[in-house]
Amino acid sequence: MMLDKQAFLRQRKRLVQMLMEEGVLKSPNVIRAFLVVPREEFVTYQHRLYSYLDNPLPTFLNQTISAPHMCAIMCEALQLKEGDKVLEIGTGTGYHAALCAEIVAPKYSEKKGFVVSIEIFPELVRYAIENLTRTGYIDRVKVVCGDGSEGYPEYAPYNAILVTAAAPRVPEPLIEQLAPGGRMVIPVERGWTQELLLIEKTESGEIRRKFITYCVFVKLRGKYGSP
Ligand code: SAH
Repeated sequence: MMLDKQAFLRQRKRLVQMLMEEGVLKSPNVIRAFLVVPREEFVTYQHRLYSYLDNPLPTFLNQTISAPHMCAIMCEALQLKEGDKVLEIGTGTGYHAALCAEIVAPKYSEKKGFVVSIEIFPELVRYAIENLTRTGYIDRVKVVCGDGSEGYPEYAPYNAILVTAAAPRVPEPLIEQLAPGGRMVIPVERGWTQELLLIEKTESGEIRRKFITYCVFVKLRGKYGSP
């Protein structure tokens, strides 16, 4: 069965409604991004029909695209706003980067918000660039191939850092690259489970950690990743 654009849009609206009822989607700008970004353009062709189930889906090389509710929880916790500079570690399909771009740099925006997203596998970098180009986000998302566990100092400091792979502990360079008043969400391994943490840097440079929820992400690789 092949679904057309309209059918996907209906499913997308239904999923957004559900995430709002669950209290996961709250902010108008995040809700708007979820209504606009077509997840079906980012999942692999064989999983297209499942685009609007609230599940993670496999991509390539044993990696995944996160479940919509997890993307929502992370975007809400970051309190993204128009004009923000965002760093994402783990581009994968590019879907979450597109959501962030839709929030910090909507087409009509005069502010200079943008997203830098780092992916370690060149195959996935190529895949994400294709998806972001087809959907019209490549002008607002810079995709870089490399080890994001060290961050990306070139555009630092960032108002928000989004880590979409689980780290053994919070990498120090990422804390350094956070702007005063900035926020980071990151899954961190805790025994056999993982905790999604919110790291806040206050205007005076003080670091605060808050537990958000338990979660399941693929492992972060690279210098500050899992051995
Ligand atoms: N945000 C993605 C899902 C990411 S899954 C999306 O919206 O589709 C996690 C991704 O992190 C995987 O693609 C994996 O290859 C990548 N990754 C793991 N360790 C990394 C590292 N050290 N630097 C950059 N990317 C990494």
